[in-house]
Amino acid sequence: MLVVMEEGAKEQQIQAVIDRMVALGLTVHRSTGVRHTVLGGVGPSETVDLAQFEVMPAVKECHRIASPYKLAARPFRPQGTVVKVGRVEIGGERLTLMAGPCAVESEEQIEQAAEAVARAGAVVLRGGAFKPRTSPYTFRGLGEQGLKLLRSAANRHGLVTVTEVMESAQIGLVAEYSDILQVGARNMQNYSLLRGLSEVRKPVLLKRGPSATFEELLLAAEYILTGGNYDVILCERGIRTFDTHLRYTMDISAIPVLKRLTHLPVVADPSHATGRRDMVPPMARAAVAAGADGLIIEVHCDPDRALSDGAQSLRPSEFAQLVEQLRAIAPVVGRKL
Ligand code: PEP
Ligand code: MN
Repeated sequence: MLVVMEEGAKEQQIQAVIDRMVALGLTVHRSTGVRHTVLGGVGPSETVDLAQFEVMPAVKECHRIASPYKLAARPFRPQGTVVKVGRVEIGGERLTLMAGPCAVESEEQIEQAAEAVARAGAVVLRGGAFKPRTSPYTFRGLGEQGLKLLRSAANRHGLVTVTEVMESAQIGLVAEYSDILQVGARNMQNYSLLRGLSEVRKPVLLKRGPSATFEELLLAAEYILTGGNYDVILCERGIRTFDTHLRYTMDISAIPVLKRLTHLPVVADPSHATGRRDMVPPMARAAVAAGADGLIIEVHCDPDRALSDGAQSLRPSEFAQLVEQLRAIAPVVGRKL
């Protein structure tokens, strides 16, 4: 259930509502908006008589949330969530560009990529150190050494980092080096990983599973939110459909649908969605036009020699050209870049 407090409600009045919710056995999550404080009560709320809250001082309204996800639902934070990482904001007016290679391969490689993407306007450097690969015989990342190289390249160029954490046991290590922790598509329903991430106080980039419904995605996000980590960024990265021409099918409609269902920021990954370099710019443009809060794009300075996902990686000049196009599209949809 949700209790929306009146504008200017006093702390004491808010606390009185929290106390009553707790007394009824609910766990209370508080969202402080520009105008209203919203209190989300999770637990046995079906039998709670909402009228007892409606008559409390400074209560504006209260209602039950019909969706199975509660904290991820839009009404919990109608104004939208802005995830802040250092000077970077995800979900605000400014679009967030995340870019870099699929995997960290060497010091020189990640340094060159960091320099190139920063110059073009990216603010977040991506690069996998622990790589989930379909085949066990392919490059699976440099592990901790990769995390170190990503961190230092990002620091040299004033960038924030995002990198994947594949299992619960890696959370501490990855969180030591990276600003944002990525949950890969294959791990979207790894519930022990999600529970572990709910205890971390670092943002999580949660990728949609290739065959996950929106409800499944939002329930996965709910696992992280319910532990008190409210900084979740959703990522549409292509889903599996009947067509096999491209790597996946980029679900552009996921962007406006998710923006309606949830307050969480939504970014798009046209690289993994299409698997082809020439398809990345049109899908990136479409995602921004559809209302994405940002993009995560693979960029490699020598994609023909990349150890993973070279075919879908943009060269620095192609990325820079795309960013210029996005700068033209952004204002049309009320965004800055
Ligand atoms: C990645 O971003 O490196 C990745 C492996 O993506 P996904 O989990 O979406 O396949
Ligand atoms: Mn990749």
